Amino acid sequence: MKKHNFSAGPCILPEEVLKKASEAVINFNNDNLSLIEISHRSKPFVDVIENARSLVLELLGLENKGYKALFLQGGASMQFLMVAYNLLNKKAAYLNTGTWSDKAIKEAKLFGELVEVASSKDQNFNYIPQSYKVPTDVDYFHCTSNNTIYGTQMKSFPETSVPMVCDMSSDIFSRQLDFSKFDLIYAGAQKNMGPAGTTLVVVKEDILGKVERQIPSILNYQIIIDKESMFNTPPVFAVYTSMLTLEWLKDLGGIEFIEKVNKKKSALLYSEIDRNPLFKGVAATEDRSHMNATFTLMDENLQAKFDKMWQEANINGLSGHRSVGGYRASMYNALPLYSVQALVDVMQELERIS
Ligand SMILES: *Cc1c(COP(=O)(O)O)cnc(C)c1O
Repeated sequence: MKKHNFSAGPCILPEEVLKKASEAVINFNNDNLSLIEISHRSKPFVDVIENARSLVLELLGLENKGYKALFLQGGASMQFLMVAYNLLNKKAAYLNTGTWSDKAIKEAKLFGELVEVASSKDQNFNYIPQSYKVPTDVDYFHCTSNNTIYGTQMKSFPETSVPMVCDMSSDIFSRQLDFSKFDLIYAGAQKNMGPAGTTLVVVKEDILGKVERQIPSILNYQIIIDKESMFNTPPVFAVYTSMLTLEWLKDLGGIEFIEKVNKKKSALLYSEIDRNPLFKGVAATEDRSHMNATFTLMDENLQAKFDKMWQEANINGLSGHRSVGGYRASMYNALPLYSVQALVDVMQELERIS
């Protein structure tokens, strides 16, 4: 039986996607060739990447609004510098909500002056700062919508007069937002969209071309747009599998549908964390993530027992990130509700026998 996979990333993918992807590795489109041994410029693969790009814009509600969807490499980590390379002339504003924002800030500092509008570092990033102002004299504002490590999620976004850039790696396609408020969204595929190896960028084309520096071609969004994500060989397997996941999501009913499922899953787990006297949540209640729930045992002496129990219950990937400790249950789109129920059952069993 497949394990209940709470891995924070690379993440669980739908069974049918894994099945189709593995079939395509052997025989793609019944053409007696593998997906990973045909030219990326052949029609079958060009169809794949075009379909993936249009599914992205369709699911996000960004068709015909001046946005382009790109499939790149280098992970979300590459976007930390690519964003600044392409958009930062003099000064940019960043909201610091954890390790990933911190890393984005560090890279952007190579390109200009940075204003940290607020930070939740004082409490090991267990909350989202609320009262801050985005300056008007910056080239853009950058934030991280979901903080994978700490289990916090931005529930609202500031009104800005400058372009808004968002790292949505761990909650893209999980909830409805007005995506047209953002001018650039990026996400490493391996959290909620596909396997590691490709990074999605959705960019409003009119924010580009405003910096004075020379940009190396492979890091230049405009060049990647002009080459339709084929400046060089794209990661064909990662793009194909991401496309399958996007198709799966669309067939289910898109973000509107999956958001309801995600809310059910997180409500089930958080209500157990709050009810069960053996556990406590890590993140501030109002900022809790629907994707990554962080929690700890009240009594650390129960750890060995609890660890043994969830592992025996066929659960994978529950250990917290080393900088937070405790536990982290990542409930990405493909994780079924019954997996969360399996975890809740173990938590209740622990209470019963303790
Ligand atoms: C995992 C993660 C990253 C880093 O992604 P890579 O693709 O490994 O570079 C960046 N931001 C967030 C929010 C993440 O969860």
